[in-house]
Amino acid sequence: MRITESKKITDFFGCYVFNDSVMKKYLTEDAYNELKEVIDRDKVLEKELANKVAEAMKEWSTENGATHYTHWFQPLTGTTAEKHDSFISVGKNGEITLEFTGSNLRKGEADASSFPSGGIRATFEARGYTAWDCSSPAFIKKSKDGAAVLCIPTAFCSYTGEALDKKTPLLKSMDAVSRQGVRLLRILGVDARKVIANVGGEQEYFLIDKNDYDKRYDLEFTGRTLFGAMPPKGQEKNDQYYATIRDRVSSFMAELNEELWKLGITAKTQHNEVAPAQHELAPIFCQANIATDQNQLIMETMKKVADSHGLACLLHEKPFAGINGSGKHANYSLGTDTGLNLLKPGSNPAENKVFLLFFLAVIAGVDEYYDLLRMSCSSLGNDCRLGGHEAPPSIISVFIGEDMKSLLDDIVEGHTIASATKQYINMGVNYVARPKRDTSDRNRTSPFAFTGNKFEFRMVGSSATLSTPTMVMNIMTAEMLSRIADRLEKADKNDLDKEILATVKDLYTQHSRIIFNGNNYSKDWAREAKRRGLDSAENAVDAYEALNDKKNMEVFQKHGILSIKEMESRRAIYIDNYVKSANIEVETALMMTRRQILPAVMKWQYKLAKQVDELSEIDEAYAKTSKRMLAGISALIDKLDDAVEELQTAKDGALMAADPRKQAILFRDRVLPVMNGLREIADKLETRVPKEIWPFPTYADILFYE
Ligand code: ADP
Ligand code: MG
Repeated sequence: MRITESKKITDFFGCYVFNDSVMKKYLTEDAYNELKEVIDRDKVLEKELANKVAEAMKEWSTENGATHYTHWFQPLTGTTAEKHDSFISVGKNGEITLEFTGSNLRKGEADASSFPSGGIRATFEARGYTAWDCSSPAFIKKSKDGAAVLCIPTAFCSYTGEALDKKTPLLKSMDAVSRQGVRLLRILGVDARKVIANVGGEQEYFLIDKNDYDKRYDLEFTGRTLFGAMPPKGQEKNDQYYATIRDRVSSFMAELNEELWKLGITAKTQHNEVAPAQHELAPIFCQANIATDQNQLIMETMKKVADSHGLACLLHEKPFAGINGSGKHANYSLGTDTGLNLLKPGSNPAENKVFLLFFLAVIAGVDEYYDLLRMSCSSLGNDCRLGGHEAPPSIISVFIGEDMKSLLDDIVEGHTIASATKQYINMGVNYVARPKRDTSDRNRTSPFAFTGNKFEFRMVGSSATLSTPTMVMNIMTAEMLSRIADRLEKADKNDLDKEILATVKDLYTQHSRIIFNGNNYSKDWAREAKRRGLDSAENAVDAYEALNDKKNMEVFQKHGILSIKEMESRRAIYIDNYVKSANIEVETALMMTRRQILPAVMKWQYKLAKQVDELSEIDEAYAKTSKRMLAGISALIDKLDDAVEELQTAKDGALMAADPRKQAILFRDRVLPVMNGLREIADKLETRVPKEIWPFPTYADILFYE
C-alpha cells in the first residue's frame, strides 16, 4: 500500500532528514541556536557543540532504525561514496554501548588510495579526510527491509589538503559568488549578508524492462546500447511527450516520489519525455550544494525503485542511437539571504540596476569562460548526445529572448524606454484564463537560456553531477561581478548612476556576440558562431583542455577555488576516465560481436546453406532466393569479422600510446569510428535475420515494452 493512501505528504515529508524541526526536538535551545549560527553564518563548528549535535543525531537516527553512520561524499569518479561504521563500541567492562562523537561527526578518515587523485597523492600518502558540510542536512538511507544508515554529507580532501572531490570546489565557488555579489549589492545600496546560488536540476531518464536490461551486456557495462537497428517507429510522431503515463510507470513514479519526499527532496513535476520510454523528474530549486546532493540521491533512488518494479533506470546521456538522449537541465539563479531573486527583471527592468548588472554579469561570464562551461559538461557519454536529436549543439551561446534584447538595444542606443507592461496572451475564448506572457519565450535549442528569472544550462548530461557546471557558473559570475564592482567602486558617488549605465552599455556591447536568439540546430549558426569568434570544443577530449588554460587558471586562483595542481589533477582524471570508458565500450562491443552476434548469425548462415543444398536437390530453381540470402548474409558476416579484427588492432594501438591524452585522441579519432562502423554492419545483419535468432532484445522490444 502507498504511504499516501493513509498519510498526507506533509505528515511524512522529510521524515528521514535531520532537519530544523528534528534539531529543535533533539537539541537544547542553546545548542539549536548555536548550530543555526554555524549553518546560516558559516561559523566554525566547535568541538563542544559538535558533541551535542552528534548525540542528537545518534538518538534520532537510532530511533529510526539506524545501526550505522557514514560520511557520504562525492569523489572524482562522479558518483557518491560511503563507508559504513556501526555505532557500537565496547565499554570498559566489555559491555556494548552506542557511540557517535563530535569528532566522528566533524571528520572522517578514509583510505584515499583507491579513489582517483590524478597524481596528487602518491600511494604511500593514502590518507584522505572527509569533513561535514553542515549546510547540507544529514539524512537516513533506508533499504526496503529497513536497514538504515545515518548519512553525513561531507567534503573529501587529501592528507596535504588538496580537494579530492566535487563538493569542495563547489562550496568555495558559492562563497566566491556570494562575496562578489554582496560587494556589488553594497555599492548599489542593497542590504544583504549573503548571495546564494540556487539550482533546480531537471533529471531526464529512461525506464526499460529489467528482463531486457539483463540480457544486454552493453547496457550493463557501458550504460548505453552499442548495437541496435532503428525500429519502424521511433519518436517521429511526437506522441510520447507529455503523453498519458502508463500504469507501470505511474507506480514507479509514485514510489519514487514517496522515497524522495521522505528524504526531504521536493519532487515536483513528472512527465513523459520526447523519446519512447523516456521520462523526466524535477524538484523545486534550492541552494546549489543541497540541490547537488539531492540530485545524487534522486539518481540513486531512481535506480533502486526501478529495480523493485522489475524495471531498469538508464541515466546515460544517449542510451539509444537515433532518438533523443537525456540531459540534466541546470536552472541557475542568484538570490539574497533576504529572499530577493537578483535575476528577476521585475515590472520595470530598464530601471532595475540590480537585475541588469547581475543579468549581464552572467552573460559576460558565459562569453569569457564558455570553454570552462563546455568542459564542465563534457564526457564520453555526453559526446554521443550533444548536437544530435534535439540536444543543444556543442557551441555555447546565450538565449535572452526578444524582449530583453530590444530592452538592451534601446539602452545602448539611448532611447527612452517605456516601462514594460506584462502582456497577456489571448486564447480566443473568454472562459479560458488569460495566462501572463513571460518575458522570454522558450527556445529549446539554446544551450544556455534566460527563462524569465533564471538561466537554464541545458548541455549538462543526465548522468553528470550538478556540482561542476554549477561551480563554473559561480566562478564566471563571481569574476564578472568582481570586475563590475572594481569599476563602480572607483566612480564618484554623485556619478554612480551614470557609471552604472555606462557599465551596462559596455557589458552588453562587449559581450553581445555570445547572445543568439535563433535556432541553434541550424547549420548557419555553426558558421555564424565561427565568424563571431566563438570556438567551442567539439568533443570532451578537446574540452578538457580548458583546465590547462592560463586565463582559467588565473580565475580559479583569484577566487581560491582550485590550485593549479588540483586543476591538473582533474584534467588527468577526466582524460583517464574518457580512455577507460571508451576502452570498456570497445571491449564490450568486441565481446558481444565475437560471442553473441557472430555465433548467432553464423548458425543462421549454416541453416541457409543446408537449405540451399536441400532445395537444390529437388530443383535448382527452388534454391534461388535462399542462395541470394545466403550470399547477402555471408558478405555481411565477412565484413563484420573484418571489422572485429580492425577494431581490436585499433584499440591495441591506442593503448600503446604512452601519453594518456594521446590515447584519448586515438580512441576518439581512430577507435570509436571503427566501433561505429562495426555497429552499422551488425545493425544491418539484425534486420536481415529472423527475430528469434538475434541474441539479445532489439530496440523494438526494449523501447516499446508492456
Ligand atoms: P521549465 O524548464 O519546463 O520551464 P520550470 O519553470 O518548472 O520548468 O522549472 C524547472 C526547474 O527550474 C525546476 O527545478 C524549478 O524549481 C527550477 N527553478 C524555478 N525557478 C528557479 C530559480 N529562480 N532559480 C533556480 N531554479 C529555478
Ligand atoms: Mg526546463
